[in-house]
Amino acid sequence: MKIKFLGTGGVMGVPVWNCDCHVCKSEDRRDRRYRSSVLIKIDEVNIIIDFGQDFRNQLIENEIKYINYAFLTHAHRDHVGGIEQLATAENAIFEAPEDVMEEHLAKEGSSRNWLETRNKSITIQAFTKKKIKEYEVDTVKLEHKKDYSDIEVPCYGYVFKSPNFKFAYISDYNKVLEPDKIKNLDLIISDGNGLNDKGHGHVGINGSIKIYKEYKPKRMILTHLKHELTHTEMQEYVEKFGNIEIAYDGLEINN
Ligand SMILES: [Zn+2]
Ligand SMILES: [Zn+2]
Ligand SMILES: [Zn+2]
Repeated sequence: MKIKFLGTGGVMGVPVWNCDCHVCKSEDRRDRRYRSSVLIKIDEVNIIIDFGQDFRNQLIENEIKYINYAFLTHAHRDHVGGIEQLATAENAIFEAPEDVMEEHLAKEGSSRNWLETRNKSITIQAFTKKKIKEYEVDTVKLEHKKDYSDIEVPCYGYVFKSPNFKFAYISDYNKVLEPDKIKNLDLIISDGNGLNDKGHGHVGINGSIKIYKEYKPKRMILTHLKHELTHTEMQEYVEKFGNIEIAYDGLEINN
């Protein structure tokens, strides 16, 4: 099993266009972040979680040749804005929990027809709990409010459990609504959207550190990162709290 981070940036990516802060000017390759997305490879099965506006580049640069499953966490553009790429994904299965799929199709109702016209082999359906090789794959319901209001958007993480390795991918949330599902994990990939949660939608780095202390995963990796601190600055900060790391584009976890 392999997890590869295809993108680790927040909604704007890093660097942010027209910004000359110290992060956006950084020459460290790890400070260049596409929108958040991961490839999970279990044997020969390729699973993508989220496909934002950078998805085309991510597929090409990582030489991803096929997609078996494309799972969506929620219908924000930085997660679904690259959906057109699924038009050439042969035999791909695009799934999202029912309320996420409904919201996505309500916003972009034509995308289903658009995709199905161009890709006769694609399956678009509501997510159901499933087994992929030795992994049980399930969702974990999250609370993720809009940054500028109290309005919640349907949002989920994904949990993968095998007898040997258990992990969760929860990238955008201000609260975990099914906390039992993130107990006793080897790894939690969590929301690092700014040091502190300034709006409503994200726990941010300090919020994820609280999750780490409470749920005690063996390892935590933060993604969905902003241009507030450089990779090195964030890494120095989080490692004081335990086995916590800052993700970067291209980071691979093998198990
Ligand atoms: Zn900046
Ligand atoms: Zn979001
Ligand atoms: Zn996001």
